[in-house]
This record gives sequence, structure tokens and C-alpha cells, in this order.
Amino acid sequence: MYTGRFAPSPTGPLHFGSLVAALASWLDARASQGKWLVRMEDLDRARSRLSMADAILRQLDALGLGWDGPVTYQSARLDRYRSALDALERDGRVYWCCCSRREIADSATRFPGAVRVEGAALAYPGTCRNGMRSGARPRAMRLRATSELVRFADRLQGTIEQDVEREVGDFLVLRADGMFAYQLAVVVDDAEQGVTDVVRGADLLDSTPRQIVLQRLLGLAQPRYLHLPVAVDRTGAKLSKQTAAEAIAAPAASLRSALGFLGMPGAPAAARVDELLGWALEQWHPRNIPAVRSAPAPV
Ligand code: GLU
Repeated sequence: MYTGRFAPSPTGPLHFGSLVAALASWLDARASQGKWLVRMEDLDRARSRLSMADAILRQLDALGLGWDGPVTYQSARLDRYRSALDALERDGRVYWCCCSRREIADSATRFPGAVRVEGAALAYPGTCRNGMRSGARPRAMRLRATSELVRFADRLQGTIEQDVEREVGDFLVLRADGMFAYQLAVVVDDAEQGVTDVVRGADLLDSTPRQIVLQRLLGLAQPRYLHLPVAVDRTGAKLSKQTAAEAIAAPAASLRSALGFLGMPGAPAAARVDELLGWALEQWHPRNIPAVRSAPAPV
């Protein structure tokens, strides 16, 4: 059975960009008679707020985007991520790293194979791969990347390929603050929740190959992926909760703009949210969505 999900980080209320992700994943699930789950990605203790998770749920409710079953909170599932990390450790796939961000930036620029992917962090140069320098304090854990090309067919963006070792390097599975990394938690959760289809913003397109690497190592099923254009402001910056992008005020008007952004203009004026969603379900086809990685948010 089709199972989709919306996985916001509760660091602020929904804004236009996150509404687009919620709406598209809901429409794709409901148009397939599937389930739609909500998962709060609240592992970042410094930035996540329970009050924001509640605010997001109230917004989804007001937008008519109903979900199935109880909402899951990653903070309540740490034992699952621990077991996955233990399995990777038993198989010799991970190692301790003592590098600070500064050290990585310094040595990465001298690392001959390092490539700087536009807008992305530098690839980890592999400093601790064969052991940390003596006396160093272990800070974080990294997954040993291998030099295979990871390829997948995105339902909107087409074929995506990444050489994880060269473009990203050995990546974090346990962060320096002791928290499990997003990449690890997301694959554990998507698999355990039986998610068949991930529909989310294209800002995560470059993360997907890392997630596929982890799925393969942990023997987890690989869902299908659809990466939506990310809504950007006039300067080309992603709208984000941190930059205090305007929270959604009027649900019906916001839905209508989000539908336009997803390639479905012409939603009936003055319709209620349930009428708009009914109309959108009849129109829904991912091929109407512009196959780009970012697009300006309506003003
Ligand atoms: N929690 C992530 C975010 O808010 C989304 C993760 C995902 O959809 O895989 O950007």
C-alpha cells in the first residue's frame, strides 16, 4: 500500500515552502488511496520546540491535510537509531572522528580529490578514516563511503547520480553533540513506518544518495522519491523557518498559491479548503509540477 509522509522539523511554524511539501505529499498519497503519516524530526534539541510541533499540527488541520495514525516524534525513538548505528559498527562501516569543522575546512582544501559542490559543504577529507591522531577526543561518528556511483530515478527530477565518496566523503551518522544524524534517523524511520514514497523538497536531493547507501548497508527497502522545487525568495534563498519566512495566515489562499506553485493554477475562487483539496485531487499528476530544483515563491 502506498504510504507517504511529511516530516517537518518543528523549529518554527509552517511557511509557504513547507506547505508545498506537505500538500504535494498529501495529494500524492491520497490520489493513490494511500496513507499519509506525519513525523516530527525533532532530534535537534537546541532548535526543536514542542510548541512548534503543536502549531504545525494545528496548521495542517486548518489546511484540511489530515494524517493517519499517531504523529511520531524522533526524540522518542532514539533506541531505534542506536540499534542501527550498532549494526553499522559491528560491520566495521563507521569510525570515530575527532575533526572540528575548522580542521575539516582547512584540510579539505588541500585534499586532492576534494570537489566543492556548489552551495554544499566540502567533502570530508578522510582524516580519521584510519584512526584518530593519538590522544584525540572522539567527537562524532562517520560512515565509511565507498567509491560506487549511487544512481536513482527521481519521479520528477529524472536520473540522479552521486559519487558519495568524492562529492560528500565519509558522512556523519552521530553528530558531535551526541545526536544521531538526520541521514541515519530518516532511513530508519522511513523503513520502519513502511514508507513507499518520499515526496519532499529538492534541497534534500543531494542527501538522498547518502540515504540510499545507508538503506543498502542496513538491508532496508528503498522508497520511491519525488523531489519538489524549493520555494525561494527574491534573492534566490530558500524560505526557511529560521529566516522567519512568513507563517501561513489564510489557509484557503495559501493552498491556492501552493497549488499554483505545483503547476495547478485555476483553483476555484472562494472555495473552502475541503473543496480546494477535492479539486486538487482530481487534477493531481506529478508531471504538472515544474521539474526544476527551485522556483520563486508567489509574492
Ligand atoms: N525534516 C526535514 C526538513 O524539515 C525533512 C526531511 C525529509 O523529508 O526527509 O527539512
